[in-house]
Amino acid sequence: MVRTDPGTTESLLSELRTWVEMETPTTDAAAVNRLMDKAQADLGAVTPVERIRGSQGYGDMLIARTPNPDGRKGILVAGHLDTVWPIGTLAKMPFKVEGDRAHGPGIYDMKAGSFIAFNAVREIIRQGTETRLPITLLLTSEEEVGSLISRPLIEAEAAKAKYVLIPEPAIGAEGAVVTARKGVGRFDVAIRGVSAHAGGNFQDGVSATVELAHQLLAVQGMTDLAKGITTNIAPVWGGTRPNVVAAEAGFEVDLRVPTVEDGERVTAAIRGLKPVTKGTSITVRGQMNRPPFAETPPIMALYERARAIAAGLGFDLPKIHRGGGSDGNFPAALGMPVLDGLGAMGAGAHADHEHILVSSLVPRSKLMLGMLETLD
Ligand SMILES: [Zn+2]
Repeated sequence: MVRTDPGTTESLLSELRTWVEMETPTTDAAAVNRLMDKAQADLGAVTPVERIRGSQGYGDMLIARTPNPDGRKGILVAGHLDTVWPIGTLAKMPFKVEGDRAHGPGIYDMKAGSFIAFNAVREIIRQGTETRLPITLLLTSEEEVGSLISRPLIEAEAAKAKYVLIPEPAIGAEGAVVTARKGVGRFDVAIRGVSAHAGGNFQDGVSATVELAHQLLAVQGMTDLAKGITTNIAPVWGGTRPNVVAAEAGFEVDLRVPTVEDGERVTAAIRGLKPVTKGTSITVRGQMNRPPFAETPPIMALYERARAIAAGLGFDLPKIHRGGGSDGNFPAALGMPVLDGLGAMGAGAHADHEHILVSSLVPRSKLMLGMLETLD
């Protein structure tokens, strides 16, 4: 059914190992670019590759396309090469295979998934497989800090596509794909009071830390678990010394919402925080930075296509909704059919036990190839 040969488990794992052993923390553009160089050289052996220079201290991005002489809308498959792990992590957490688990920094989120997409597109081109739609592969460099520079590129490429596939990690023991994600907002709340000597003139002071306690509870009160809305407050800071009435305090807020309306409403509430204590003032900065990715009928239709391909390959493909955002949020917010979680199975994203299941490399590669070959 799948016409392109993805390679063997051994060949996929050994090439993925070279990706994992090139450390790519988002904040080290030169390190990310070394892996971009490798991906560009390996793809460049079969097709022309576009390289888009990074900016604001982030690494470059790569685009490879199958031929599309009529400029038809096709499939965008997008993954990130950066990880949350600093240089030197490999020394403590080396690439290693134990049973069916392959460990290594960033292997699950999402070097394996980006590699599956890269390999699928490369092999379609190299083996000359005819696909029904043209394909664009996009590899980015700064997803783990919010995709500030890649967002316009992802949105522009998505606008030229009919479907968007995101090979972020598959979820859980069943390898669920992701059909919805929450939107994410980040806020910085700064509180000003009036400093005074805690012994000498306590009564002249207005404590910013006490006002912070009121505001912290107000923001915490915006959480509505039944609606899937959460406001997490961390870190918190305030004051300088125990014998000084604090003039300054503040905290950060991570907001998660399932719908655009919830995002707008809670954003307005956070930005509209009013001081409770006379003599204090509040300044709020921040906004939604990833819009919600809601499950729509076109997303369900795309999921059903993937599920049918998986069934043909002999496995079940459940779906799940996630609290964490991804680059799938941007095209989903534009109303596009997006399917996420198409990467490798495993566990431990951003954690010491991060690993993939080696036995998932070939089936997930075939699922990706099946989608790329048959979507129309
Ligand atoms: Zn990721």
